[in-house]
Formats: sequence, structure tokens, C-alpha cells
Amino acid sequence: MRNSLLVGIGAAVAVAALPELAGTALASNPDVVYLIELDDGTNGGEYLCQSDWWYCVKCSVIYHSDNDAPGGVCPEGGMHQNDTSYTLYCIPHDGGSLSQTEAPVNGVQAGWRWCSRCQGLFWGSAASVSVCPAGGHHVVTSGTYVYDLPYGKPYISEMINGVQDDITGQTDWLYCGQCRGLFYGHNNTISGVCPAGGPHSQASNSSNYYMPPYVNPVIV
Ligand SMILES: [Zn+2]
Ligand SMILES: [Zn+2]
Ligand SMILES: [Zn+2]
Repeated sequence: MRNSLLVGIGAAVAVAALPELAGTALASNPDVVYLIELDDGTNGGEYLCQSDWWYCVKCSVIYHSDNDAPGGVCPEGGMHQNDTSYTLYCIPHDGGSLSQTEAPVNGVQAGWRWCSRCQGLFWGSAASVSVCPAGGHHVVTSGTYVYDLPYGKPYISEMINGVQDDITGQTDWLYCGQCRGLFYGHNNTISGVCPAGGPHSQASNSSNYYMPPYVNPVIV
């Protein structure tokens, strides 16, 4: 079973070892329910949360891959690459495309999408001006989730079988104004490699996004 534990600062955040489930092909982890309470104490909503998102140590984006394997297309060359000691992230969504018609909630921004070509996360509305490391623009695939990214530092908890546990997320995920993807900036000390050339560059209208880790649900 997987467990994630955020410790310290920086991109390197430790997790427990990741043994595979005996006799089971380890595909995507099950979705869990996250409850988000905003900075001002108001209810930010209830979300499902999709795991199998990783930090790429080569280009600093977040990318999706089952089994923490290298995947997608990295602008630094080859595939995106995780370090298995790093956090397994879980990105909130509402289970479908409903987010597109939801009223915007202060503290949670709907509209982030997965690119099927590079496996990265990008701002869907900017697809036509985005830059994909696989060439051309990032692509929105119909039928895939619309992700809801928390920003600021909301209170997030996980509800499993009626038991509520706190989740500690990680700040300093930023929106790149060049490639339109999400990357880890860590106080602007990390800028990675941008598929548009040079390092990623925080857009002037970027929020400081707050990425929750995946915490394995307790099956009772
Ligand atoms: Zn990469
Ligand atoms: Zn892409
Ligand atoms: Zn970029």
C-alpha cells in the first residue's frame, strides 16, 4: 500500500517504500475524497482526487504515470522521470467535466487538464497558445478530467469511511506563462526546463498552487 509523507521543504519529499499489491496489477490508485476548506474558513467543496501524479526531476513539471514509471515526453530529453523517494501527488477533480460549468470557487481553480501527448498538466483555456514538449500545443482529450487546483494554503482533509484526516500539501507550484504548464518553483529557486525554451517562467497572473499528496485510503 502506498503512503505519502511530506517532510521538510524543496522538491525532495520523502515517502514510504512502494510495495506492489500482491497478485494485483498495480494500476491507478483508487480515487479518494478530499474536502477543501478555504483560508477564510468557508467551504471550498468536496472533490475526488486522482493519484499517480509525479514531479519530474529533469524539467520540474508534474506528470501522470502509473507505477511511478518514467513517462510522457520531457523537454530535457527522453521521458519525464520521477525519483521514487518523492511524493506521490493527488490532484482534485469532481469526477468529470462538471467543473467547466461550476461557478468558480475562491481558493480552488477549475480548468486544468492532462495532456495526452506529454502527460503533463496545463491550463486548458490556453491550449491554443501552449507549448508541448512533444511538439506543437498541449492537447485536451475529451472525456478526461477537469482538475481543480487549490491555491493559497487551504485546509484539506481526507474523508475515508467516515473518518476525517488532515492532509498537508505543498506550496510553490506555479503556472508557466510560456508553456502554460504547471511546474514546481520553490521560492523561484527551481525553474526546470521549459519546452518553449530556457527555464519555466512564472506567469504574472499565476497563483501559488497547493498540491496535496496521495494518502492511501484505509480499507476497513
Ligand atoms: Zn520532465
Ligand atoms: Zn503536452
Ligand atoms: Zn514552461
